[in-house]
Amino acid sequence: MTNEPLSHERLSHEVLPQELLPSGSILKQALDTAPIETGTAVLDGVTISVLDRGIISFEPAGDGLLGQPLKSLVLSAGVHGNETAPIELVDALVNDLVSGRKPVAIRLLVILGNPDAMIKQSRFVEENLNRVFNGIHEQRSSLEADRAAVIEAHVQRFFDGATNADDGGTSAVAGERVHYDLHTAIRASAHERFAILPFGIDLPDTQMEFLAASEIQAVLLSNAPSGTFSYYSSYRFGAQSFTVELGKVRPFGENDPSRLAAIDGQLRRLISGQHVEFDPASFADTTTELPEVPIYSVIHEVMRRCDEGFELHIADAVANFTELPVGHVLTTCSNRRSEGTDRRVGTGQRSDGADRRVLPDRRRAEQTNPEVATDVSASFRDFVVSERGSAIVFPIRGVPIGQRVALIVKRQEGN
Ligand SMILES: [Zn+2]
Repeated sequence: MTNEPLSHERLSHEVLPQELLPSGSILKQALDTAPIETGTAVLDGVTISVLDRGIISFEPAGDGLLGQPLKSLVLSAGVHGNETAPIELVDALVNDLVSGRKPVAIRLLVILGNPDAMIKQSRFVEENLNRVFNGIHEQRSSLEADRAAVIEAHVQRFFDGATNADDGGTSAVAGERVHYDLHTAIRASAHERFAILPFGIDLPDTQMEFLAASEIQAVLLSNAPSGTFSYYSSYRFGAQSFTVELGKVRPFGENDPSRLAAIDGQLRRLISGQHVEFDPASFADTTTELPEVPIYSVIHEVMRRCDEGFELHIADAVANFTELPVGHVLTTCSNRRSEGTDRRVGTGQRSDGADRRVLPDRRRAEQTNPEVATDVSASFRDFVVSERGSAIVFPIRGVPIGQRVALIVKRQEGN
């Protein structure tokens, strides 16, 4: 766990602060397809390093308060190239930091995830970058797989540098590691801004406070490991990681920054070493006290299980977190003998735990609601909503067989 070779090489290209990022914009640098000039500059005691295309780090000298190791924050946006609002937020923030207008009191690594997709204003170029992290890229061959490898190398180097430098970086005592991966969603959401907590990590109170003060309106707990960037950073480095969805996809220049003022303000507080502070004036929606953030769990992952005549019965206008009535036929297949439906009917079981949990309820629903399929009588019902309080998140059409079509989530009791 050493970062010596990389950092020595970088330090050799020391430049004046104003030369480091001539346009002041990490977005412009990322969108420029000319070879990237890496380099390092020192500004007000903070070492700023342009590490790669769309990747820049800030390292204040010394320790934090009372000699504590500094907090390390990875802030990423543009993992999906057309999700422009958080890209613009991060770009403006970096501009203030490289110009010295805002102080940097924590270690910070900023990453614009997929510059080639950003140029095309598309979600991705060859495949979804947010499915190939955590080493999955090693078995893939695509532009996104290459980029994931580059990003992982920088994140590893950055978080490895967060260990106590006094003992050569071997101490188990690292500063707090945090990762916010900022996105916008394809469709509208009943909770306009929400966070997704990767599988397998606890939800610290300090993070809930940050999210609430950032006007995040819901937290969704993941049910399984995945290839997302936030799962990678939490699983590999124990980072407090979130995927944060900040409203709906819009083209560059068409976002309303006031919708993101609260999280922008809290990120700036965090980076300048201040504590989270609720500021009602920064909220897009009127409020006088810090709102409580509801927590949702995934109760079912709906997969595409057949090739022939597969249909997802949900209108494009239906927002994320919309509650579905019990008995709603969500997916159908035209062919009973297709792969997925045979398995469900034949054994009453599927390979993953989530299915086993939900199946008995669904069978009951189908028995007690024989009329649910009347509108799709020519087709085979593949997934029927069976639990009261079920809401839909991330429905997506056109995915290949075996991939996720939607998540069914439920608000936790007493929350
Ligand atoms: Zn996204």
